[in-house]
Amino acid sequence: MKELGYYNGTIGELSEMMIPMADRVCWFGDGVYEAQLCRNYHIFTLDEHVDRLFRSAALLKIEVPMTKEELKRLLNELVQKMDTGDLMLYYQVTRGSGKRNHAFPKGPANLWVTLTPKTLNDSTEPVSLITDEDTRFLHCNIKTLNLIPSVMANQKAVEAGCYECVFYRAGGRITECSHSNVHIIKDGTLYTAPTDHLILAGIARAHLIKACKKLGIPVSETPFTLDDLQNADEIITTSSTNPCIRACKVDGKDAGMKREDLFMALHKEIIGEFLSDTAE
Ligand code: PLP
Repeated sequence: MKELGYYNGTIGELSEMMIPMADRVCWFGDGVYEAQLCRNYHIFTLDEHVDRLFRSAALLKIEVPMTKEELKRLLNELVQKMDTGDLMLYYQVTRGSGKRNHAFPKGPANLWVTLTPKTLNDSTEPVSLITDEDTRFLHCNIKTLNLIPSVMANQKAVEAGCYECVFYRAGGRITECSHSNVHIIKDGTLYTAPTDHLILAGIARAHLIKACKKLGIPVSETPFTLDDLQNADEIITTSSTNPCIRACKVDGKDAGMKREDLFMALHKEIIGEFLSDTAE
């Protein structure tokens, strides 16, 4: 298949799939999701993403309609149906179906999966960032489908010709970006926001920390500010599809780009791990 859609057991070409209007996602965006890459038909970091899906679901009192092992088996089976093994794997669990009513419906949650061709972005070309105040809610640790502030912020970045929008909370503390985590290197140490309720604990973030530890780069999981971002030696964003991206501008001003040695070493480590774990 070229682009696969799966909904509660029904499989088809994505463009032909029909979803019931009464799925709670239509009323409330009531669900949780994961997005990750697959190469050579191997799903990278599957356990970590499935664990996070279950954690997100539990925090919203959504019962995933199968066990972790069943879900992993299903995802691996769906990947095998594809014409290419280089894919974006997206899945979400929504809180069942019913009439529009805030109270939870009775009955099982719905499972959606999509598979579309995609390759890893392993570019070392620096990107530009904008910043904007983080007006999202206080549950950013949950990977929910309620993404309107992130959508608005990302569009602002796109319209400014930039790669990402970095969020800061009132007072200046940097949290994360619209669809990635952000980190800085200063005086040889990597600073990354702690995994509290203000950020999503990114899987790529965890792998960046692992790479730092392997390379002997100290890591400080402490909050940093807008001022720190603007004066950083390096600025790095991470996400599962764009695992190690370097920034050269923040809000139109030159920034980062002072520790190419550290950036390149981290980039090599992170991309190398992806390539070796998904080798044929
Ligand atoms: N933060 C936000 C808000 C995101 O949407 C994402 C990815 O979608 C990330 C961080 C990065 O998470 P991961 O590294 O698990 O892809």
